Amino acid sequence: MRVTIAGGGIVGSYLANLLRGEHDLRVLERQRPESFRAVCAWGTSYHEMRRLLELVDIEFDDYVLHVGKRMTVDLGDEAIEVPLKGLCTFDKRRLILDMHRRVEVTYGAEVRRVDEVRGDVVVDATGFHRVLLPRLQKDYYIPTLEYLIRYRDPPLDDFYVKPIKPLSGYFWYFPLGDGLAHVGAGDYYKRHVEVLNEFVARNGGEVIAKVGRPVRITPPRLAVPIVHGNVYGVGESVGAVYPVLGEGIIPGMQSAELFSSLLREGRLEEYPSKLIGFFEPLWTAFRYIRNKIRGEGNPLTNLRLLLGIFLHMKSKELRYGMEIRLRDWLRVVTTYG
Ligand SMILES: Cc1cc2nc3c(=O)[nH]c(=O)nc-3n(C[C@H](O)[C@H](O)[C@H](O)COP(=O)(O)OP(=O)(O)OC[C@H]3O[C@@H](n4cnc5c(N)ncnc54)[C@H](O)[C@@H]3O)c2cc1C
Repeated sequence: MRVTIAGGGIVGSYLANLLRGEHDLRVLERQRPESFRAVCAWGTSYHEMRRLLELVDIEFDDYVLHVGKRMTVDLGDEAIEVPLKGLCTFDKRRLILDMHRRVEVTYGAEVRRVDEVRGDVVVDATGFHRVLLPRLQKDYYIPTLEYLIRYRDPPLDDFYVKPIKPLSGYFWYFPLGDGLAHVGAGDYYKRHVEVLNEFVARNGGEVIAKVGRPVRITPPRLAVPIVHGNVYGVGESVGAVYPVLGEGIIPGMQSAELFSSLLREGRLEEYPSKLIGFFEPLWTAFRYIRNKIRGEGNPLTNLRLLLGIFLHMKSKELRYGMEIRLRDWLRVVTTYG
């Protein structure tokens, strides 16, 4: 079968590696390798990444930059120290380019319309852009701004986040080793630029790169259609992003894993329902975040949703790379209530 993947980001590249050797496969990527940017804070959970990359014979340890011991959640008047269980940063750009080397990638190939793309199966892995699938009727996304900063004397030595009221976004500091850090913020109400620049003004450092792009938090249940003709969406194009954290690497790769196994079994028609089912926890988290942002939902509904998020993450601490403690959640929610 001829399989064409539009977008060679983390998800498109991973999918190509999962399928390599099985099909007439190519990846169309609009960027060029020498200037390739993997826009992201490069944070992930060690154990699930290791599992996913083992499926394509890649050793995740070769890419890890910093393994966290604790994450400080700054609530203003007080701070929570969350023990970590594998939250780390990794060299996402190098991993993507290494995955490209094992498959056929055409660089500088900006896909605009589906009729330009040949393939029995075409995959939209263009992330937020969702170039080949129909536009979403209602799309939810958080604008972000991120700097890559080099410090002579880093102001922090581990993961640090500071939620922005009313839990409509957060500021992050993710260490990358060697005095480097991704420092960024995202906020539905667009106060992130102010929050980020205030931190930079206070802590100095040399800003090496700046990027700003939105993160989609519309969950797969609403990011429809997931399939249109012979075009199938994976990754952020179909909302595989955990809304509480804006975390899209692992969910996106999980969507690619699901897609590849259904393609292999000749059951691709089941992909949309299986994707929505698998990502049901994203739907719960999305509804909670949407209610917080809009100031909607009665307290009981919101408490039930919050409990749903907590129980899901508690049962998957290694997947999320951190200890999930109810008292921490309640402190965050009461502070930002
Ligand atoms: C500032 C920021 C920080 C983030 N931090 C984290 C984090 O720490 N951890 C985490 O898990 N998630 C994070 N995310 C979310 C995460 O980066 C994305 O959800 C994830 O990368 C989605 O992967 P993807 O492959 O689906 O899309 P993308 O990573 O967006 O990749 C899409 C690819 O398609 C290419 N492309 C786009 N349009 C076209 C076109 N027309 N033709 C051809 N190619 C095209 C792009 O060049 C790109 O290579 C962050 C997001 C942002 C914006």
